[in-house]
Order: sequence, then structure tokens, then C-alpha cells
Amino acid sequence: HPHIHQQSFESDDFTEVVQAVNQLGKRILKEEERRGQLIADVAHELRTPLTILRSQLETLVLEGKEVSIHQLIPLVDEIIHMQQLIHNLQQLSLAKANQITIKRSWFVFQEWLEEIIETLNIKAIEKEIEVKVEGKVSKEVYWDSSRMKQVVINLLGNAIKYTEQGGKVNIVLKQSQGIVKIQIIDNGPGIPPEKLPYVFKRFYRVDASRSRVSGGSGLGLAIAKEFVELHGGSIYVESESGEGTTFTAILPIFPVD
Ligand code: ADP
Repeated sequence: HPHIHQQSFESDDFTEVVQAVNQLGKRILKEEERRGQLIADVAHELRTPLTILRSQLETLVLEGKEVSIHQLIPLVDEIIHMQQLIHNLQQLSLAKANQITIKRSWFVFQEWLEEIIETLNIKAIEKEIEVKVEGKVSKEVYWDSSRMKQVVINLLGNAIKYTEQGGKVNIVLKQSQGIVKIQIIDNGPGIPPEKLPYVFKRFYRVDASRSRVSGGSGLGLAIAKEFVELHGGSIYVESESGEGTTFTAILPIFPVD
């Protein structure tokens, strides 16, 4: 008879082990599901611009005439759209996998913000939207300036994109005890309450048809959330249909741990 070593379990211990294994199994299945969904979403997102590109190119080829620059511009736009999508997706997966190292440096918040507003000003002027800044952050901040710039571009870009001609966009700044609060407030169409919980999810769009026209991919807010959280901050949204939307990001000026 081989010697059988018996490990005696208290029955409570055993139940706990079984539960833990079950939970792990469920988590793995959920993760698998999430991955499958991500691949499906990416495939879906790339299909539309690729279909457009292909049919436009085929038309040009079939016509057999010399192609003018003017005919090529929309094709280049589609390619840029796909590249942006892939870049955003890459940023998002890197952040999710904890593979982004943020490069912090001290910089003057106010100058940095003015520059970002300047880059988005053309779009605002086109839509006769006035971007006003209320409040001031006099301190320097110790952030990853390019990652945080992306956050502000995504939020402010959305505010300008979704607000109608002649609308208003306000940036409200507050600072206290090592914390900066940035609010981006617009008087655009707002987001219906039942859709609010989902706006930070990747590929989520409140109005898919309208977003597609405005070139959105539904990744901007997901990226903003990841980048803010990488800085130890938090972000949330408040909105009322027909009234407007407020995004609030709260960030420590330098890391606290
Ligand atoms: P997109 O690339 O579609 O703009 P985002 O992740 O930036 O993706 O935003 C997700 C969705 O949230 C948008 O499609 C839009 O429906 C909604 N949204 C974001 N910002 C605003 C805003 N300021 N006003 C109204 N709706 C907004």
C-alpha cells in the first residue's frame, strides 16, 4: 500500500477554496468575453472607413481618368481617421495593461492651458463658439504634460464638437490644497441620464450616427479617464438633456502616495 498523505480540511476551509476557484473561473470567463468583444468592436470600427476607402478607390480606378488632388482628399481623411483610431486604441490598451509610464515634469498650468485652447480655437471660431476661462491656477503642476494635454483636448474638443453653432463653452478652474479642479462646461445638447453611466466606456457613443459624421470613435472619454487616473485623479460627468454637459477632472498637483 502506498502511503497516502491526507491533508485534512476543515469543511469551512474547503468551501472557501471551492468558492475562490469558482470566482476565479468566472473572472477568467468574463475577461475572455471582454477580449472577444473588444476584437469585435475594433473590427467593426475599422470596417466602415475601409469600405468607404475601397469603394472610392474602385470608382476612381473604374473611371480610368487622371485623378485630381481634390478627389484624393476624402481618401486621405479616411486614412487619417483609421490611424487616429489605431493610435487611440493603442494608448487605451497600454494604459489598461499598466504599461504606460507617465513622464512628469513641472510646468506652468495656465500657459499650458492657453496653448491647448489656442490649438482648438479654429474649430471654435468656425462654430462661433466662445471659449471662456474662469478662475486661475497660479501654481506649477507636476504632470505628464502631453498625456494631460490629450485629456483637455478630448474634453474641450467634445464640448466644441457637440455644442451647436453660437454655443458657449466655459472652462472653470479651481485650486486648493495641492489639488486642481478643471471643469469643462457647455450648453450643448446634453446627454440623457440613462446614457450617462456609459460615456467613459470605450466605443460608446450616445448618438452613433451623429458621432460618425463628426469623426468620433468613442475612445476619447475612455482615454481621458485612463490618463486622469494615471495621475491619481478622478473624472466625472453631469448633464441634463437640452441644457448642457459638465465634465469635471480633479487632479493632485503632484503625486501623493
Ligand atoms: P467620440 O469620439 O464619439 O466623441 P468620446 O469618448 O469622446 O467619443 O465621447 C463619447 C460620447 O459621449 C460621444 O459620442 C457623445 O455622444 C457623448 N459626449 C461626449 N462629450 C459630450 C458633450 N460635451 N456633449 C454631449 N455629448 C457628449
